[in-house]
Order: sequence, then C-alpha cells, then structure tokens
Amino acid sequence: VQSPVARSPVLQSFIAGEWLGNQAGQALASPVNGETIYHTHAETIDFARSLEFARTKGRASLMAMDFQSRASCLRDLGKHLLEYKESLYAISLLTGATRNDSWVDIEGGAGTLFAYASVGRRELPSGNLIHEDDAFPLGRDGQFFGSHILVPRQGVAVHINAFNFPIWGMLEKFAANFLAGMPCIVKPATSTSYLTEACVRLMHESGLLPEGSLQLIIGRTGDLLDRLDGQDVVTFTGSASTAAKLKVTPNIINNSIPFNAEADSLNCAILAPDVSVDSPEFELFIKEVAREMTVKAGQKCTAIRRVLIPENQVQAVSERLTARLAKMSIGDPHLDTVRMGALASFEQKADVLAQLEQLLKSSQLVCGHDEGFELLGKGSEKGAFIQPTLLLSNDPDADGGAHDIEAFGPISTLMPYKNIDHAIALAARGKGSLVTTLVTQDPEIARKVVPALAAWHGRVHILNEASSKESTGHGSPLPMLKHGGPGRAGGGEELGGIRGVKHYMQRAAIQGSPTMLSAVTGEYVRGGETYESDVHPFRRYFEDLRIGESLLTHRRTVTETDIVNFGCLSGDHFYMHFDDIAARDSQFEQRIAHGYFVLSAAAGLFVSPGEGPVLANYGLDTLRFITPVPIGDTIRARLTCKRKIDQGKLSPKGEPQGVVVWDVQVTNQHEELVASYDILTLVKKQFD
Ligand code: NDP
Repeated sequence: VQSPVARSPVLQSFIAGEWLGNQAGQALASPVNGETIYHTHAETIDFARSLEFARTKGRASLMAMDFQSRASCLRDLGKHLLEYKESLYAISLLTGATRNDSWVDIEGGAGTLFAYASVGRRELPSGNLIHEDDAFPLGRDGQFFGSHILVPRQGVAVHINAFNFPIWGMLEKFAANFLAGMPCIVKPATSTSYLTEACVRLMHESGLLPEGSLQLIIGRTGDLLDRLDGQDVVTFTGSASTAAKLKVTPNIINNSIPFNAEADSLNCAILAPDVSVDSPEFELFIKEVAREMTVKAGQKCTAIRRVLIPENQVQAVSERLTARLAKMSIGDPHLDTVRMGALASFEQKADVLAQLEQLLKSSQLVCGHDEGFELLGKGSEKGAFIQPTLLLSNDPDADGGAHDIEAFGPISTLMPYKNIDHAIALAARGKGSLVTTLVTQDPEIARKVVPALAAWHGRVHILNEASSKESTGHGSPLPMLKHGGPGRAGGGEELGGIRGVKHYMQRAAIQGSPTMLSAVTGEYVRGGETYESDVHPFRRYFEDLRIGESLLTHRRTVTETDIVNFGCLSGDHFYMHFDDIAARDSQFEQRIAHGYFVLSAAAGLFVSPGEGPVLANYGLDTLRFITPVPIGDTIRARLTCKRKIDQGKLSPKGEPQGVVVWDVQVTNQHEELVASYDILTLVKKQFD
C-alpha cells in the first residue's frame, strides 16, 4: 500500500487544524550515517490559539461522541495505521531502529489503540459519564444515597514524550485521553519527531480524527505550560532531571495541574539462588538480559541495567552472556542481517559514553567497549553505534555506580549478591524502578521476594520454564497492566486498562435521592422511580426500554417437592436441603431451598417466554443470597431495567443489538430481600 505521508525536509507542527512550518530550523541527522534527514520548522507556534482550539473545537467534537463511539474510532485508527505501517517502518529505519525494534513502536502502538478500543467497548457505558460504584444508602429511609461519578476533564492533555518510542509513546497516552474524551497536544522529543509527524499525518489523513482532538508540536513547548489551567493534565516521559524541572513549573503547582511522570529507572533482573547453571531457567535468564541490552540498542526505559546474580554464579553468567552478546551483528538497520542498530542520535551516544566512563570507576569490563568493533553497512562508521557492554560491579553495596548512573544504551552491570535478602536490598537501591524480573523455579522464593520487590517496582515479572513460552518479556509494558514506577521512576502511572483512562477524568462524589442519582448516572438506583405498564419489559426493543422500567411478578410458594425435584435435576443433595436433622442443627434450623433454585424460580417468574427482542442472557453480576428460603415461604421478583449500553454491535445473525442490565430483587412474603443480582442480556434494536 502506498503511503499518503508527504515526506518533506521541513517537519511541520499540526496546530489548530493546520500544518504549520516551511522554514528550516534545527537540522536532524540520521544516527545511522550522520546525514541530515529533516529539519524542524523555524516558525513559532501560537500556543494560546492551539489551546483555545483544543478547548473549544476539540472538546466539542469529542463530546459529540461517547465512550462507545470513541472506542470504535480508536479501533478504526489502529486499522488505518496497520494498513500504512510499511511507510512508518521505512521512516523508523532512519532512527537507527531495526525492524524488530520498530515493531514494538509501530505495531505495538496500533495494538495499544486496539486494546483501549476493547476496554471502552467492554468496560465503559454509552454516554460520557462513568458511574463508578453502586449507590449506597446514607439515611434510614432509603431516600438519601451516595455514589461516585467520573466525567471527562474539560481541559487539554499535554503529552511530552521521549525519543525512544516516537509512535508507541504518543499512542499509549493518546488512546487513554481520547477514550476519556479529552483533546491532546503532543510534543515528541525533537530528535525522532519525524516519525511521530508521519504517524500524525496518517491519523489526520484517515479522516477519522475528530477535529481538534490531536495537535502536534515539532520543537519546543514555548509558553504552553504557563498557559495551562486546573482542568488540564500534563504527562511526561523522559529523564528524571527534566521531569523534576517541569513539574515545579509555578503555573503547574499554582493550579494543581496533574503532572504524571515516567522517568529513567535502573531496572534489575534477579537470578534466584535456586537456579542451577544447567537448568532451563538459567538459559532464560541469559536470554532475557541479552535481549534487554540489545533491543532498541538498550534505549528502553524498562531495559535491565542491573543484573543481580548469586556470588557463586559470576563466572558462569559472565561467560554465557559474553558468548551470547558476541553473536550480535551491529550496523545499518536497513540490512536484514543486522540485529542491533544505532542509538537515536549523536548526542545520545555522547551521553552514554560519558555515563559508561563513570560506571567504569566502580566496575570492571566483562565484555564489549572494544576499539573498532565490526559494523555492518556502508557509511555506518559515521553513525551513532555502541557495542553491547557488560560490566561487573566491584562492590554492589557501595553508593554510586549502577545503582545511580543510567547509561541509556546497551550497557548493563553484573551485581553479585550473598543471599536472597541481600538481592532484595540491592534491588531497592535503584530507588524505585519501572520493572524487575525474578527468575526462579521455586514458588516459595516468589512468595517471599515479590511483595518486597513490589514496594519498589511498578511491575514484577516472574519468569520460569512454565511461563517462558507465553511470556511477553521483561521490557514490554502491556496496555492492560500498569506502566510506571515509584521514586526515581517518576511516581506516575500509565496504561493499566481502565485505570489509564481515569487519569483524564475528574471524580466527584454525588449525594441525593435515588431518583436524582438515577437521572444523573443514567442507571437505576434502588428506591428510585420505576415505570410499569401493560407491556412486559422483555417485549420492548432496546431503543424503547426506559431506565427504571419495571415488572413485579406474581408469587410462588416454595414446596418440599420443589427442593426434591431441583436436587434430583441438579444432583445437588447438600444436607441443608435434604437432611432434616443436620439442617435443624445448622444456623438456619430447618431445611431450606437451594439458592440456585431461587434463581431459577425467579427466572420462571419474570421471563416472557414467547419469541421477542431479548436475544440472549449472557451472565449475572453481583449475585448475593441474602435471606434463606425455607419450605412454605412465598417468593416474587422485581425486574428493573438498570443500565443500557449501545456498543453498535450486531448479533451473529446480523441483527443490531445492545446490552441491557436488569436489576433483580427476589423477596419473600415479609418483603425481605432473599436474592439480589444483575442479569446481563442482549436486546435487539429496532433500527441500526
Ligand atoms: P529529556 O528529559 O531531555 O527529554 C524528554 C522530553 O522532554 C523531550 O520531548 C524533550 O524535548 C522535552 N523537554 C526537555 N526539556 C524541556 C523543557 N524545558 N520544556 C518542555 N519540554 C522539554 O530526555 P531525552 O529524551 O533527551 O532522554 C534523556 C534521558 O531520559 C535518557 O538518557 C534516559 O535516561 C531518559 N529516558 C527515559 C525514558 C523513559 O521512558 N522513562 C525514555 C527515554 C529517555 P526535546 O527533545 O525537544 O529536548
């Protein structure tokens, strides 16, 4: 597929719906051979206009949609990016990344859009308000309830990103703010901003992006942070020092603007003492460390910088890692034979070499750092390449060294430990990291070590032979799992499914009568107004059902025959239903009906048996058996339409349908609640 991306030597910002920039600004060199490939633009950006556009046009177009339609839009954007992915791969080579490295950035980025599309469809309602928890009574008579809602923040999400994942870094944040209903302004790191620009062009040219929902800054942020207000959000990925500087911007502090930081961290991997040199786990450990050192030439916030190994394994680990790293072919990523590419810029290379010199003051060289190592590809001797380099710490308990210095490239340090408690203490010396991997065969070690590691790490990956085939690896943040870590790692959180979306929403506690809370949340709250008519609710199409539409059924007296029949049918002859003596000794002091009989009997009371718009019952939520039902009790059910979600889906037969959740209360002759639950159904729509 030919890409519609217009390659221009001058990169353009996308501000207030227009591409801005014609005059060349800063030159950007390819780290592969040093040639200038793009320029930033010299024109300044009017950030007042950009913010105004996001707050008016961007917000309006997003609020004209709802969670469900934005989820569909994310899915379509992901498909579009995959359709044109080859054009992105071609540009990504210029950043020094191999195809393998770029896969995480490009297809991983699109994958994050898909993941958030399904989070939206599965977990979010129609509309633009999340009712976070069940309403609970605050008074005695059931007319004063409390609950929590989340609404989209009314400002702009400003994302400042790192150079290493120009596409994924943007999309992992965009997916969450877009689903929440906030417009965003993205500022990628300048050195690789050409790849982000290409991605934004594709998204824009797809025609799928709502107006004003995404703007792009090439170059610096000018006075943008000084113009934000209390409804805005800033997210940052990059160095701890820039994070520390930006988060104390007076305007950010004065207006309590949330500032989420994901900063550099000194992640470790631990080889547990139970793993012997000839076990499969030993080989897994070696592979994982070597992979993390070389993927993206070690320029990953999650890469393993500290390799914690038992003292008696230093020689074995050094030899195996040295042998593995020696096989790494380094050079121009355009060549299929190259496994590790360049660092993203010459500045980055200079930084990494300076950090390596610092590290060498407290460690010895195990392998790498050779003069004139072999490089593949014409002209690559002029590029920003570094050989994978393994160090051995002289004193892992000393301050400084690998516990403090991050060389953001293919460099790791072996740190021998005396026993597992020593390993736990050394892991914490990173002062807060994004991720750690524990390689062990022993569940007892995992039970002891993981809680201690969890206090210092955003994610703990346990690796053994059983998990190895499916493991997504130490270094991959997953859309469904939290990304971010405490302390030095920035203290922020990203991703984590619905958690990530909530960063862009404001939570409010609400109090009022059940009818008021129903009106606000769009969900029936018990005790609120209900509507009854001659038409059975199961006979109404999705569109015609009202929240609060209700049916109170006829009654049914539970007999011993019911219990016996149900026991024979189900095979459940539990003493409580069948053993008169044991039942009398129990807390209920008599035989009682099966809870599942009560459920089945309630369904028999409330269903409308004839063919109709209800297409399927796909489950129950929040089921509780509250009061026992002894022989002779009389039960009835109240069925009330609680929640409707229009996911725009079709049934397997192609019929348009929506989700309807029904509140069910089963009561006895004393009006006591016997069973309480939600049933989940799919109901046919009359129209597409
Ligand atoms: P920086 O912290 O220098 O830059 C990160 C982002 O912040 C870039 O977009 C940069 O823009 C921007 N920025 C820098 N200064 C300002 C400012 N005053 N106002 C607004 N925006 C600003 O990190 P780098 O990307 O240069 O990487 C340096 C180090 O960061 C690495 O060596 C590594 O230690 C760490 N890092 C951590 C990552 C993580 O995911 N946790 C990822 C990548 C790097 P510009 O490019 O225009 O300067």
